[in-house]
Amino acid sequence: MGSGMMMIPRPPDRGATEQEQFLKILSREDAIARFEAVLFPRAIPGETRRLANVLGAALAADVTAPIDVPPFDRSNVDGFAVRSADLTSAGEGAPVRLALNDETIHCGTAPKLQVAGGTATPIATGGPLPRGADAVVMVEHTQPAGPDAIDVRRAVSPGQFVSYAGSDIARGEALLRAGTIIGSREIGMLAACGIAEVMVARKPRVAVISTGDELVQPGGLLGPGAIYDTNGAIVAAAIDENGGEAVFLGAIPDDEAKLESAMRSALADADMLVLSGGTSKGAGDVSHRIIGRLGAPGIIAHGVALKPGKPLCLAVCDGKPVVILPGFPTSAMFTFHDMIVPVLRKMAGLPPRSDAKVNATVPVRVTSELGRTEFVMVSLVEGKDGLIAYPTGKGSGAITSFAQADGFLRIDALADQMPAGTAAEVMLFTPHVRVPDLVIVGSHCTGLDLVTAQLAHAGLAVRSIAVGSLGGLAAAKRGECDLAPIHLFDDKSETYNTPYLVDGLELVPGWRRMQGIVFRKGDTRFEGLGAREAVAAALADTACIMVNRNQGAGTRILMDRLLGGARPEGYWNQPRSHNAVAAAVAQHRADWGMTIAPVAHAADLGFIPFAEEHYDFALVTARKQRPAVQAFLDALGSDKARAALEQAGFRPA
Ligand code: AMP
Ligand code: MG
Repeated sequence: MGSGMMMIPRPPDRGATEQEQFLKILSREDAIARFEAVLFPRAIPGETRRLANVLGAALAADVTAPIDVPPFDRSNVDGFAVRSADLTSAGEGAPVRLALNDETIHCGTAPKLQVAGGTATPIATGGPLPRGADAVVMVEHTQPAGPDAIDVRRAVSPGQFVSYAGSDIARGEALLRAGTIIGSREIGMLAACGIAEVMVARKPRVAVISTGDELVQPGGLLGPGAIYDTNGAIVAAAIDENGGEAVFLGAIPDDEAKLESAMRSALADADMLVLSGGTSKGAGDVSHRIIGRLGAPGIIAHGVALKPGKPLCLAVCDGKPVVILPGFPTSAMFTFHDMIVPVLRKMAGLPPRSDAKVNATVPVRVTSELGRTEFVMVSLVEGKDGLIAYPTGKGSGAITSFAQADGFLRIDALADQMPAGTAAEVMLFTPHVRVPDLVIVGSHCTGLDLVTAQLAHAGLAVRSIAVGSLGGLAAAKRGECDLAPIHLFDDKSETYNTPYLVDGLELVPGWRRMQGIVFRKGDTRFEGLGAREAVAAALADTACIMVNRNQGAGTRILMDRLLGGARPEGYWNQPRSHNAVAAAVAQHRADWGMTIAPVAHAADLGFIPFAEEHYDFALVTARKQRPAVQAFLDALGSDKARAALEQAGFRPA
């Protein structure tokens, strides 16, 4: 190109601007259909491997048995090969004498002599049945009659103790199907047929890149505003769980040039690329712009009617799928399991994952946004008639803990709710559900872990689902949990918890915990004051910001009582946990709030005691005799748990 030539500016990339605003939101089903239509059918690359190296691989093609197993009619016992017709009259009082033929058939010996009428041939377990014989009589059922004969005192049926040729595996029979994951059992079947090597699907290599300036790899130091890269580890592991071979390339900052070079080199030697983050409309979000330059056809869907997960981006570059998962780890997991795993498994030559789905009843009504496929994280517990899927963490922010979740369910885009009692299909994060031995649903307290630790060490699986005191009581009434931890004050009787019990529930005293005002040590607005004075001081200072608690929390009730109708700055900041209150104060986002003493002390904050709360357990009487419940009650009363509770700042009842 001559230097005098005018440069014609490139027309703006239409695709990119459209996606920028999510103008074309596809339904989940459309997005899947379009993505798969570009990717499939495709050849699954296979490789031949020796039996010693095939464990865990997927068979690339059906395997047909090349021989009969066993290859000949074989004796199952040590004894004598006989003709059953000779022994029809044999009985305890009427032994039949058979003459012994002059050979002994061992494993691996081909018989030479025929078993003629009135004769028998000694045969070992695994020995081939000689010509003429049709059954074997066990040595225990015979008696020697001199060196050359035996007496038999039992009739035998034809075929007795004989494994016929091909009775295990018949030649020509489909031994194993394509897509079967080869385990020790499959290796045994292949070995029995003499197959030394098989064609297995080559695992697709999947490059994984996290994106974001804020990401630090686990093990590194968290600076202000930084978070650990969760998606990198979890996506890589989920790829390996689904037949891929993940190659994690770390977190790349939101820098177009750096990211483009990382994506190009990843695609050069991988079959698929999975990124996470940076797919929204944000200014720093660049990965989807790069995709257009990596190969045709490029972006297939960017913006899918999912909740959460709307910014999901699906692309194909020169035949290789390129996926940008949403940044929030839960959104990344929902979309990955729901929409990407099926593609990965097809590329890996695996059938759809049937082991990772269970049916369960949803005990409560779950509202859902019309027009978007909604994913809801659930925790599985055992109900009266099968599994119950408890929605967890819905609406509690995006990075919900996976700790208590087994999987998730999907609410159709056309539904505005899932009614209580719906039988739903739950997609499991990992294909093993371990139904908990003990289910605790209600208000969470850090003290609870100190008691349940003993159960966990004894091998009992404890599931505790934090839904607040009232939610816990409702679950207990429905019989969905063993225990509901509650701390509910009754104004009328001025007592805790007991007035809230109904038939079928009984109270197990737990511990007391001091609720009070937290502030940063050294804040002269609060130092040395009582709780009511401290609140008055806070209300008098307009620069003072509080942090509240969510509606329904016991702490919130106390706070509202203290405020007496005042709505100071920060009132509408309503996190859902004691720890969040402490974090807000410690990080200067708020100056005061209410939390429990152990949490305040752990965060090294100043604390003004206000009211001692009773944290007790509503026990479902019908479940009291269950061993795990008894173990919990024992643990609760143990010296060890009491000491641990006291140490942490609680006062055992
Ligand atoms: P983004 O789509 O990049 O705006 O990310 C959305 C949210 O997810 C932000 O809060 C990110 O900090 C968070 N996020 C993105 N990537 C990751 C990751 N790999 N691990 C944990 N959180 C992430
Ligand atoms: Mg980001």
